[in-house]
Amino acid sequence: MQEKPSIYQQTLDELYVFFANNGAKKSCAEHVWHGLYKEHTEDLNNINGLEEECKELIINHFTFRSMQQVLRQEAKDDTVKFLFRLADGHIIETVLMRQHFGTSVCVTTQVGCNIGCSFCASGLLRKVRDLTAGEIVEQIIQVQQFLNGEAQRERITHVVVMGIGEPFDNYENVVRFIKIITHPKGLAIAPRRITVSTSGIVPKIYRFADLKPRVNLAISLHAPNNELRTRLMKINRAYPIEKLMAAVDHYLKQTRRRVTFEYIMIKDINDQPEHAHELAMLLKDKKEMVYVNLIPYNPVDEHFHYQRSAKETILNFYDILKKHDIHVVIRQELGSDIDAACGQLRSKHMNTVRRKTINHSQNM
Ligand code: SF4
Repeated sequence: MQEKPSIYQQTLDELYVFFANNGAKKSCAEHVWHGLYKEHTEDLNNINGLEEECKELIINHFTFRSMQQVLRQEAKDDTVKFLFRLADGHIIETVLMRQHFGTSVCVTTQVGCNIGCSFCASGLLRKVRDLTAGEIVEQIIQVQQFLNGEAQRERITHVVVMGIGEPFDNYENVVRFIKIITHPKGLAIAPRRITVSTSGIVPKIYRFADLKPRVNLAISLHAPNNELRTRLMKINRAYPIEKLMAAVDHYLKQTRRRVTFEYIMIKDINDQPEHAHELAMLLKDKKEMVYVNLIPYNPVDEHFHYQRSAKETILNFYDILKKHDIHVVIRQELGSDIDAACGQLRSKHMNTVRRKTINHSQNM
């Protein structure tokens, strides 16, 4: 593991304190932040107005790069998947998506995931560790630097905290990450353009609500009743739908912001008309304040018993919700010609590395 902390881990206030404690001017912190987040440079010599003593302090106390890109996969629709190797050798996945409303990055928050949703490629590897806030910020920086290297000047406008891991199982780092990327003197990503997705860790939903964040909250629901949801998501045993809905009500009351319910459409499992009616009943008392996002399932080899719902089934489900006056959208598919499911590229890469290692040791 690296010894010095990452510069991307620091809030601007912490950098003010750091420079003050080291006898340097407060303005050093602002120069560094401007260089990192407005000019996207890590070359201290390129940062205007940065004094020598500030450069020296930074070099002696912080690192810039904690992860290396090991693989990049580009889809026909311009979606790009990145695999990064962290300083301790673990691999994470980050996705760049071009949509009609802007350029989004989907970040990973943990190495592996303990939630163990039965349809998910990412959940096959249990959590090894949480990512630091700096490692989450650095995913954005590295993707922005990739964009800077392309012909057109494209800026990241949206962030989704929806990659590998459960963000609320790494709560403190995710909150710090949001604080860093929304700061007006830094990347200045508008909070309303950030979405945090949770599988439903109820106590953390209450805690997050009480912060009154201006970001969007998405709940991975995937089933309209406890029996089915527990089959798909073990977390439902700890936090069943009634508790989850009570937490969502609290969130709505505290923030007055709409909540999105994510619903993966899996053939013959959760996609039948009765499920749509049941879902509409579940959401009817809050239908003005919630959206349902229907997501065609991306099949993965490891969960071959789950298949994607047919297009007509999804449209029928959509129509039923509409008839109940539920706001609903069908998620546009991105990156379908590459390993589109969350964690799929990483999982394939790890299997290839594992196979090579086994073959290598057998040949010795
Ligand atoms: S869907 Fe999300 S929460 Fe569930 S196992 Fe996969 S990464 Fe974890």
